[in-house]
Amino acid sequence: MPQLLTRRHLLRTGAAAAAATAVAPRRRAAAENPLRPVAVASGNGLAAVKEAVARMLAGVSPVAAAVAGVALVEADPEDVTVGYGGLPNEDGVVQLDAAVMDGSTMRAGAVAALERIKHPAQVALKVMQHTTRVLLVGEGALRFARAHGFPEENLLTERARKIWLHWKNTASPDDDWLELPEDSDDPDIQWFEKRFGRRLARPTGTIHLSACGGDGSLGCCTTTSGLAFKLPGRVGDSPLVGAGLYCDGEVGSAGATGHGESCMLTAGAHTVVEFMRQGASPQEACLETCRRIVRNTRLDYLKDAQGRPRNNVTLYAVNRAGEVGSAALLSGAHFAVCRAGEEPRLESSAYLFART
Ligand code: ASP
Repeated sequence: MPQLLTRRHLLRTGAAAAAATAVAPRRRAAAENPLRPVAVASGNGLAAVKEAVARMLAGVSPVAAAVAGVALVEADPEDVTVGYGGLPNEDGVVQLDAAVMDGSTMRAGAVAALERIKHPAQVALKVMQHTTRVLLVGEGALRFARAHGFPEENLLTERARKIWLHWKNTASPDDDWLELPEDSDDPDIQWFEKRFGRRLARPTGTIHLSACGGDGSLGCCTTTSGLAFKLPGRVGDSPLVGAGLYCDGEVGSAGATGHGESCMLTAGAHTVVEFMRQGASPQEACLETCRRIVRNTRLDYLKDAQGRPRNNVTLYAVNRAGEVGSAALLSGAHFAVCRAGEEPRLESSAYLFART
């Protein structure tokens, strides 16, 4: 595991980085990153990073390339944590959250609790491009999407509906729902249990993608169906600028997946970018932010018997020199990375605690 980032290191490298940035930011980025676009994403983003890099090579901006990359996952019913086929809220309704941020203009757009629209990241991009606002929620976000011609559709797949109903049937022996033994034989329930382990697991997932163009320009996107079976109207970190994503064109771009409330309370993505501003590498910045999240996790129900966090958060980052990194609270997380001219690959995220 990499060494703890010391204050002196941060100050030393931070001062150097600040001086270099002030002198010639564009020249420095171009020299360190000669026309090799790169994208980093959560582990479910292997195809997405490839697509994002292809788009950047074709001249698309990093933020629009990120949106194009994650669209593949939003449309994929096999990913039950994002877009179409995402697991619904407590009431069986799919509510999606997404946000984008452009490092060159420092503009962002976001939608939360959006229903019936398969590509919330594309709607978030429109919010950024077509309005003076940053975040639209619920009915207002849906009307905005309609106005821009996004088709409405049922996002609840049969598989997601069955998994949700199974969760209701098994959640408590004291409510009105009966646990049906035959449910467990259903191939969709078996698929879910094989993939997510525990019977009552409430999977997290989400896709974050940060992209850096060949000129060091930056953009990012996070899109999700949120925590499975969440309270209706609950919004996590994903569409919140500073929490689920943040991008500063002079520094780098970062994002998060996992337990949204933990990330929100530390402003996770913004914190990663600030550590990079002080000179930390993307991986060091993600690790240091993980430490901050652990320090800020005070509620007993969020900790195990040893006082370690029970819920995971994984952070992803790229700086304007095109270096990438990722770290998580708990072991086992992966991230996807693709550099122009190379095939996309999965790498292991650094971590603070081995999973027990
Ligand atoms: N961070 C998301 C949320 O809290 C969930 C996830 O990443 O799966 O809504």
